[in-house]
Amino acid sequence: MQRALDRSRRKNNPQNYTEKGVVKKGRKSWINSKSYKNLQSQLKEVHRKLSSHRKSLHGNLANRVLKMGNCIKIEKVSYKAWQKLYGKSVSRQAPSAFISILTRKAQQLGGGVDEINTYQTALSQHCICTEKKKKPLSQRTHICDKCGFIAPRDELSAYLAIFTSCHNGLWLTDFNLANQAVHRHRTLLRGLAGAIPSAVMADLASQIQSTNREVNPSPRTRPLRQSASRRKLDANLEPS
Ligand SMILES: [Zn+2]
Repeated sequence: MQRALDRSRRKNNPQNYTEKGVVKKGRKSWINSKSYKNLQSQLKEVHRKLSSHRKSLHGNLANRVLKMGNCIKIEKVSYKAWQKLYGKSVSRQAPSAFISILTRKAQQLGGGVDEINTYQTALSQHCICTEKKKKPLSQRTHICDKCGFIAPRDELSAYLAIFTSCHNGLWLTDFNLANQAVHRHRTLLRGLAGAIPSAVMADLASQIQSTNREVNPSPRTRPLRQSASRRKLDANLEPS
């Protein structure tokens, strides 16, 4: 639809474009045809629908999160930086809008959303034993060289966030408490050293090493590839 709009605009306003097809600089007047205006309002309607659907999904997700509690801790991240990194998929998901809905709902319930300073805590780089090691974004499993603890990366970060609190403007994680409580955790307990057979662990470590060696697929191409495979799947499912 966007392309149809562009074509129509170019056709009706050739005086506003250079020979290369670039828009000329300076003041211009545009002639918009009736079909152009029609298309424009159709596009507006599409965006309005998408936005209201997104808003209702955000509301549902926020309600699901708030069923677990009304004091929520999140990592303070820059959504502007995400927009630069991931482009359109960020505006489609609108994480910032979700956080503001979540914050508003949590406050209505007497709670709130706290933003953990990632520079002070670096949750994704830490182990429950306080060992700190930076890992690439593609490495989704945490394996500690020091204590042998294994856990899904994001789950561990979220777990550590529970034990992170702000003292006079400084965010600190209580690793002592985190280390003790992990023995009672339903899923993270499985990753404690000794809980996993050494053969499985060696296999996992070699897998992670090999994925690290691979070139990271750029974040721009990843969702596209997914949708292509999804389309293929849908095409196969359709009765011919
Ligand atoms: Zn460790």
